[in-house]
Parts: sequence; C-alpha cells; structure tokens
Amino acid sequence: MAKTPGAYTPMMAQFLALKEQHPDVLLLYRMGDFYETFFEDARVAAAELELTLTSRDGGPDGQRIPMAGVPHHALDNYLPRLIAKGYRVAICEQMEDPALAKGLVRREVVRVVTPGTILDTAMLREKQNNYLAAVSRGAKGFGLAYCDASTGEFATTELAGPEEVRRELERLGAVECLLPLDARALGWVPAPDRRLDPATLDEAWRAALPEGTYVTPRAPASFGLEAAQRALLTQFGVASLEGFGCAGLPLAIAAAGAIVAYLGDTQRAQLPLFSGLRTYADARCLVLDAATRKHLELTATARDGSFRGSLLHLLDRTRTAMGGRRLRGWLQAPLVDLAAIAARHDAVAELVGQPGLLRALGEALGGVRDIERLAGRVAAGTANGRELRALGESLAELPAVAALAVGTRAAPLAALHPAPEALVDLGNTIRATLVDTPPISVTEGGLIREGMAPEVDALRAGLGHDEAWLAAFEAEERGRTGIKSLKVGFTKAFGYYIEVTHANRALVPAEYQRKQTLVNCERFVTPALKAREVAILDGEQRLWRLEHELFAALRGRAADLVPLIQAVGGRLAELDALLSLAEVALARGYVRPVVNALPRLRVEGGRHPVVEALLPSGTFVPNDALLDAEADRLMILTGPNMAGKSTYMRQLALIVVLAQLGSFVPATMAEVGVVDRIFTRIGAVDDLATGQSTFMVEMNETANILRHATPRSLVLLDEIGRGTSTLDGLSIAWAVSEHLAAHVRARTIFATHYHELTGLALSQPGVRTCRVLVEETEDEVVFLRRVVPGGADRSYGIEVARLAGLPAAVVARARQVLGTLERNNRLAASLRKGLPAQDMPQAQLSLFEESAT
Ligand code: ATP
Repeated sequence: MAKTPGAYTPMMAQFLALKEQHPDVLLLYRMGDFYETFFEDARVAAAELELTLTSRDGGPDGQRIPMAGVPHHALDNYLPRLIAKGYRVAICEQMEDPALAKGLVRREVVRVVTPGTILDTAMLREKQNNYLAAVSRGAKGFGLAYCDASTGEFATTELAGPEEVRRELERLGAVECLLPLDARALGWVPAPDRRLDPATLDEAWRAALPEGTYVTPRAPASFGLEAAQRALLTQFGVASLEGFGCAGLPLAIAAAGAIVAYLGDTQRAQLPLFSGLRTYADARCLVLDAATRKHLELTATARDGSFRGSLLHLLDRTRTAMGGRRLRGWLQAPLVDLAAIAARHDAVAELVGQPGLLRALGEALGGVRDIERLAGRVAAGTANGRELRALGESLAELPAVAALAVGTRAAPLAALHPAPEALVDLGNTIRATLVDTPPISVTEGGLIREGMAPEVDALRAGLGHDEAWLAAFEAEERGRTGIKSLKVGFTKAFGYYIEVTHANRALVPAEYQRKQTLVNCERFVTPALKAREVAILDGEQRLWRLEHELFAALRGRAADLVPLIQAVGGRLAELDALLSLAEVALARGYVRPVVNALPRLRVEGGRHPVVEALLPSGTFVPNDALLDAEADRLMILTGPNMAGKSTYMRQLALIVVLAQLGSFVPATMAEVGVVDRIFTRIGAVDDLATGQSTFMVEMNETANILRHATPRSLVLLDEIGRGTSTLDGLSIAWAVSEHLAAHVRARTIFATHYHELTGLALSQPGVRTCRVLVEETEDEVVFLRRVVPGGADRSYGIEVARLAGLPAAVVARARQVLGTLERNNRLAASLRKGLPAQDMPQAQLSLFEESAT
C-alpha cells in the first residue's frame, strides 16, 4: 500500500479516524473476509476471544501494528461473547466492492452493538425481554423510558424519586441504562474495556440504580427537552406527542427521546421500528424489591442463581417464547388492581373448567412462533424468507384460535375472537407465495413458490431449458470424443466446464481450451459452453433479482401491518401465559384465590409450591395462616431450626404473589386482602463489597421496613437482632415487633429463636404466637412441620447441631453448659459482663477422650 514515510498507511489512517469517532467501542474493521481489530482492541480481542495476536505493517517508519481478526462468517459466534463480557462492539463494513473501488475502499461503522441494542435473535434469550432503559432527572423527579428493540415495545413514565426508579429498573431487569452524564467530567476515559463505575455518580443516581447496572453515559444534550421531542416526532412521523399521552411530561419525553437518539447513533443500518410509545402513569403493582425477589426465588434460586428451582421454572409451561416473556413479566410485577386480577383468574378458571378447550388452544398455539420478535424483524426490514414464512404460518393459526374463543366469557379469551381479517389474509398470502422452507439468503432465489409469479416461472423455465441443454451438450460431447466419463459441471468461481480424467487426456479435441488442472482431471471450456454460461448466469441474475423484489414487496406489506401484528402477538402471548397457569393449576391441584380489599390474609392448607414439587408426592405438610391488620396482624413464629419456619413464611408470600399475578394458588382455600408490598428480611450475608457487617445490613433493611411498610403490606422477618449480643438483640426484636404491631399495623410474621418474645403477645394487642411442632422422643427430635398456636419453650439448637454431625462430646458438653446457664442466671449475667466462668462445671475429660478414640 502506498505510504508516505513517517505516516500511517491510508488504510490505517482510515481505521484511526473511525476509532476516534468511537473511542469507547471495540472496532471490528472489515477487510475482505475478515473482521480485524488493531492496536489495543487487538490485544483485548485476542485475550477475550482466544485469538492469535499477530501484527501487520502500516505504522509510521515501518512500525508494526498489533492485529487480531475473526472470519466474517464467524461473527455470530464471537459477537455474543464480547457483548456478554460487557464490551460495546462497532461493526465497520466495506461500503463498496473492493474489486471496483478506486483507491482505498470506503468503510463505515454500520452499527454499534451493546447489551441493550441487540437485534439478532440468536443472541437474545428467548423467554426474556431485553430492555434498554434511559433515565432523566429534573427538579421534580425522574423520567424513565424503556424499549425492547427486538419486539418494538417502547414505554415511558415519570417517577417521583430515586427509589421508584430503582424498583422500576429492577422490575424490568434492564440490561443497559442510559444516563445524562458528562462522562469525561466524571473522570471516565472512554475505552472498550472500561465501564463507567456507578460509584463515581452522585447520591441520587446511586440510589436510583440497582446494583450492577450497566450504565452508558450519554451527552446531557440528548436528554434536552427540545432535542428529545424532535427525535420522537421524527421517529413516529407525527406533529405532536398528544397521541402518546406524554405531551405534558417533559421528563418522560426526555428519557424516551434519549432512547431514540441512542438507537439512531448505534443502529444506523437497521433502526428498530416502534409501533408507538406507551405512556404509563404509575407503575402500580405489587412492589417487590430486589432482596425480596431473591429471597422468594421468583426467577432464580438464591443459592446459585439457577433457573431450575425457581417459582418461574415451576410455572412456565408456555409454548411460545413471547408467552414465556409475558409470564415472566407478570411474575416480576404482580397486580394490585382487583378487576385486572379477577380478569386473569376468570380466564384461568374457565380454562381449568374446560380441559378440552385448554388442550385445543394449546395445540393451536403449538403452531405459533415468536410473533412479537418476528414483527420486529419485519419492521426493521431484516426478516429473511424463513422468518417471514414463520410469521405467515403463525398468522394462519389465528382462525383456529378465534374459533375456539367463540363463546368464552373471560375477557382475555373472548378478545381472541374474531381474528383480524387483514392478518389472516397476510398469513395466507405469505404461505401461498413463499416455498415451504425458504433459504436463509434472500438474494439467491429459491423463495417464490411455483405458479405465483408468471415471470419467475418463465425465468425458471428458461433455466430449466438450460439444464436440458447442458445434459444434451454433455451427451453430445461424450459421443463426439468417445470419453464416456466426460462430465459437464459448475463452480461459483470458474463457471461451467467440461471435466476429463487424466487417463482420457489423449482423446481431448484440439478446440477444448484448458481452464484448470486438478489432481485427477482437467477442466476445459468451449466457445459454445461459454456463450451458454453467459446466458444462464444472466437469466439467473434476473431471476434472483426478481424473486428478491417480490419478497421485499411481501415483507413490505407485512411491515405495514406491524402494529396490528404486535397487538395480536400480545394477545397470543397473554393466552399462552394463561394456558400455562391453568395447566399448572390442574396438574398441582391449585385453587382460585379470593382477592379482595379487606386487610386480611387467610390461607387453609397452604403449601410451598416449589418445596412441595421437590418432595415426594403427598409428603409436604400443608399449613393454615391467618393475618388480619385489624386483629391478628403480627405472628411470632417459634420452633427449632430446620422445623420449617422459613418455608412457612415464604409459602405465604408466594401465595400472595401467585394470587395477585392472576394464578391459582397451592392451598385448599385462600383469601388475599390485596397486598401493596412484600418486605422480607431473611438471613443477610455480609455485604463485603460495601463494607457493611451482617448486623449493619440487617438493621438497614429493618429500618427500611419500618419506614415504608403500610397496613396493606406483608412483612416477613426471619431472625432480627442475631448479629449482636443476646440482650441487645432481644431488645431490638421486641421493640421492632411492638412498633410493627402498634404503629405500622402491617401483616407480619416474625420468626425467631427468642422465646422471650412470646411475652409480647400478652401485652400487645394484635400479636399472636405460633410454633412449628416437633416431637421429642428419648434421644431424637422429629419434625412434624405443623404450625400450631402457642410459643415454643426451647429452640432445640443443640439437637439440630447433633443432627448436623457435631462430635458427640461437643454436643454433650453443650447440653451441660446450657443446663448450667438455664439453672444459674447469675452465671449467665456475669458471663455476659465478661467475668470468668468460675461456676461453670469443668468439661469431663473422659468425654473428650472418648471421642478421640
Ligand atoms: P432455620 O431456623 O434453621 O432457618 P427453618 O425452621 O426456617 O430453619 P426451613 O428452612 O423452612 O426451616 O425448612 C427446612 C426443611 O424442612 C426444608 O428444606 C424442607 O425440606 C422441609 N420442610 C419445611 N416445611 C415443610 C413442610 N410443610 N412439609 C414438609 N417438609 C417441609
């Protein structure tokens, strides 16, 4: 390459100029069949993708430049790995054919891929939405917008404070969050492997972001009201935002506009098309903070974060990915609106009551694919033949679904009838036009079914004639030359040829022109074959172009109907989720809960849905529960370790979650006075990252509960005050329970080992004690798993320690110490003061000797 001494080659200069525009991305620079990375990017890519780090010349004065590349067809393998590791990746393509380019090939960054802007279906998790969020901030609060670029969902709202923002981001599980930040002022040096550390943000931002949020700083100007408004008006081609309901909400507009601007910057070539922007007033749902979601193991287990073992794993029997996403969304945001809850219960009840209908609808949905994401690809103009065909086949199921919905009563089911005619037509046209299994490529023909387009048929017939001609030509040449094994063949690189084995070389006529020599044979052409080749390839080109045009027109027709397709997709997703709930209800014997506005929570024969499913059938012991904000609002639950206290508390919370998301519940009867928020304070782990001790975390969480719980809330406390001295802990536990019962008046269960707390029930109205029953035999504790009224008088900790395998000698000594302390209050008190344990009986040496043998 031409090169001035002391400067980069023109190509490297081009690379450096592109890199300067995108300092924070890993730039994949297309060179022929490879995407190459250079300089620091190359070191990063080589390390992360296990590529060989090489180098090329191109630097000033012969300086070599580090380089690492991947073959262009393997991009789909490498790109997800980079994104998963948190890199932003820019794809730079050659914008002209290198063979035709004069001088340097023009190159451009055609898209930047970040966690929130993935459109490739292969990189997305099927049953999860991939939300990109943006948050704006003003004097009066926050604006929050989010979108799933793969489905076209786009919504915005305004929120009062950072806590609401955090909860909303948690609910959405946003994978990337845009914030108006002057990143450089924060000391952030843009680099592909360097993410902005949320710890550098001010307090309000820190409070608004869930832990581990992937923050993308954006110029505050893109959040400016005017710029944002303009971006939205252009995106939707409208003159006013009135129709979207956000005209008077500047912060909501700012956040939504920032998303549009960001997608414009990153997705140049395939900007996702949103069918509209939904403004939602307040995210009214059952509030579950991140810790509570984790403790209740709604979508992942607390121990290792796996899906198996979570409530969603048990509930999800959906047949489509969009149904799976819908069910997950419901579980992330159970409802509080009684009518909306009843509508889902009505639908589940109707399906449970008619197993035949349930089965038939399930079968119809079996033929439906991910319409929401297919519509997204159609709208973006990136759907290929297979995807369009899949959409057509899915739409073809609509009449069957609609026919089944005739006569159903529950609104979500009845809404499936009638099937929108425009979509049924579209489905039929797609199926009639496209072949059954179209190829992946949309530019190499083979898409259009025979008999659909006379011109296509004619061109194909022409090619058919050519095939016949080639066969005749081959026969003729065999006869003429006497070479029986002579073959006519074709390769993309060399075109048509006549192949003759070396053994027959002597028989090759003089007019054959040699084209290529292989190990066993030689390949030739003749002027006649050459002329035919030109005609054939020309015909093929015309056919391919025509097929592509017809395909694009069909896809365009579908694109015009995208809003309707998305609406119907949404209804089918909902149907799928409801079918799943009904199937689980039938299979596991759940009942319809009564959800009402009373401040009560009454469960008979309640079970923990996940624990029940893990145990052998029929061995889970059901339990009742009653909490009533007016009378029995606080239950002090005692019982030995391992007795089942946590399970009991969690099952009550899960029954509430299930009831309010629209599901039936594992119980024989359940009455749920609608809950506004579930608080849990269950065994905190040391939060070393923030330098807080277990006790500090515990007290923070407790303070939060006391400040925010209402009489409508459900509060579950598992052991508070354990991280400090016994008397301090007991005193705190006492005061907290008293405050909850007397002032907060939330429905509360407090599991504890402080038996002294049972005394609170005597003095404080609304407090009741229960215990989990155990049976004590001579030398054993049998867990009965039954919750009964009354307090326990001891905690059996030593028995459980023995079960866990503590050496017999240690267990015996613990019993001895406990006995002494129980009998001798004075000794206990002086031990607490740190005085020597003079009155403590000596350990019997023989005990230890015994265990040593
Ligand atoms: P700790 O005080 O040590 O935290 P715990 O009283 O909270 O213990 P759990 O963790 O709730 O005890 O339950 C222990 C085990 O007992 C569970 O893992 C489960 O297998 C079993 N179990 C709990 N409740 C029941 C039940 N109702 N029926 C059958 N088995 C149960």
